[in-house]
Amino acid sequence: MRGTMMPFPLTLFSILERAGKLFPKVEIVSRRPDHSLHRSTYGEMYRRARALAAGLQRAGLKPGDRVATLSWNHREHVEAYFGVPAAGGIVHTLNLRLSGDELTQIARHAGDRFLILDDVLVGSYEKFRGKCPIERVWVVPTSGKSVPSGYENYEELVGEPAPSDFRYPEVDENEAAAMCYTSGTTGQPKGVAYSHRALVLHSLAVSLVQGFEIGQGDTAVVIVPMFHANCWGLPQAAAMLGTKLVLPGPYLDPVSLLELIDGERATYAAAVPTIWMGIAEQLETHPGKWEISPEFHATSGGAATPEALIERCERLGIELRCSWGMTEMTPAGTTSYVKSTLDGLGPQEKLRVRSLAGIPFPMVEARVMTPDGEAAWDGKTPGELQVRGPFVAESYYNMPEAGDRWTGDGWFRTGDVATIDAEGYVRIADRTKDVIKSGGEWISSVALENVLMGHPAVKEAAVVGLPHPKWQERPLAAVVKKDGVGTSEEELRRELVALLAAKFAKWQLPDAIVFVEAIPRTSVGKFMKSRLREEFKDWKWEG
Ligand code: ADP
Repeated sequence: MRGTMMPFPLTLFSILERAGKLFPKVEIVSRRPDHSLHRSTYGEMYRRARALAAGLQRAGLKPGDRVATLSWNHREHVEAYFGVPAAGGIVHTLNLRLSGDELTQIARHAGDRFLILDDVLVGSYEKFRGKCPIERVWVVPTSGKSVPSGYENYEELVGEPAPSDFRYPEVDENEAAAMCYTSGTTGQPKGVAYSHRALVLHSLAVSLVQGFEIGQGDTAVVIVPMFHANCWGLPQAAAMLGTKLVLPGPYLDPVSLLELIDGERATYAAAVPTIWMGIAEQLETHPGKWEISPEFHATSGGAATPEALIERCERLGIELRCSWGMTEMTPAGTTSYVKSTLDGLGPQEKLRVRSLAGIPFPMVEARVMTPDGEAAWDGKTPGELQVRGPFVAESYYNMPEAGDRWTGDGWFRTGDVATIDAEGYVRIADRTKDVIKSGGEWISSVALENVLMGHPAVKEAAVVGLPHPKWQERPLAAVVKKDGVGTSEEELRRELVALLAAKFAKWQLPDAIVFVEAIPRTSVGKFMKSRLREEFKDWKWEG
């Protein structure tokens, strides 16, 4: 049938136009390296993003060229998120915590042509300078000092406003606007290219009440790094909605973050669970020091959020909603809330539901496939979680050898072991590489950690499978004791064994509980189980 709707392309340009025209006075606040707060607006971001686009075109950017960023979260990074695509380029966020060799490899693989670089990160760039095809580098003077010699000044690039006849490029909505590499927690980093269409649909999905629940009136502290996993889509969603943005720059310690949450009267923030653990600890040890807005709510994602953390944060005035996602999914996959039809559940059961990965976002479909190729919907049988949808990657950038991550019938194989119950709730048991294979059965490290971290004397805990001569693998729990807790290690070990024994079958219990100073973290603050396994690789089981 003809005469339906306009074939209007979904692009980031309409989000940029909307932010600039409808919300020009809404603030974007950025923490600078000297701790000061820089105040700007969507109006300024709009003008500067368009100036950046025009500047990049003058510098010779061709459609599809990759422009990398090596930056913290701040206004100029938001400009790049919009200005690079507005020039017809692809903004490629480099992870500033990677080594020079890793950055060389990624910048080469992506074919980055230009780089926008924070002045405070020039040292990181020097480690791979000259080893990749980057032709020109503009340095953002975030610390207010002059740009180091030998570098061009980003302020000059955006200093000349876009000409009045500036036009956005005519792009197909399926063309790439942004790009990000997986952080390589479980292998070689892989490039994911986000299309305009995916970014727009993702912005709509995450904004929903049963998503991240953000709106125009919110003030959002974006703690999740802009260099990781498309920053959970928050810069684009916030610009679309006209949400005030608060960007923490290089300061991700709990005290600096609480200063922002209190000082800016934040109503929303997004971060991985380890950040929420740190924030909860500060609030507990300094009651009354910071004020949390009664409207404050938050997303905790990127790793499993223990039930005890949800409860603990709730007592401190922070309502956490869990979310599961992946770089390959732009990255939102699921989010957890109690459906109205489950309102009759008791408080403990509701808490359990809230700690799950949850219900898929609109337009995301999920299924669990058991090793015999059957889909399982009973909430008990674990299998591989597979997903599909308009903001799920169809392949990795320039990596045909990773084609086996997609099934013949068009689903993306997440590499997570999960269950889905009849209500549609997804529960992540583990990453395939972290699941503990004991005597032909699987043990979920996430489930054990959830219980261990429920003990009031436990600061954090991670469970890993270590090789065992008889059972293939057996679980070892690494536990960090809270500071200033009187309980001895021996007592705590006994209490933890009792706590676990009440919830798990005997064969699922860890064979060893060891106390450590800290659990190693990945570049984005998740527990790094591969490092823990490496640390304990020579572990001798008793008996
Ligand atoms: P990386 O593999 O480097 O951590 P991503 O940041 O893309 O890369 O993380 C995706 C992975 O993080 C998922 O495959 C899953 O294993 C884990 N993850 C994300 N959210 C959750 C969650 N809510 N619960 C459990 N695991 C999660």
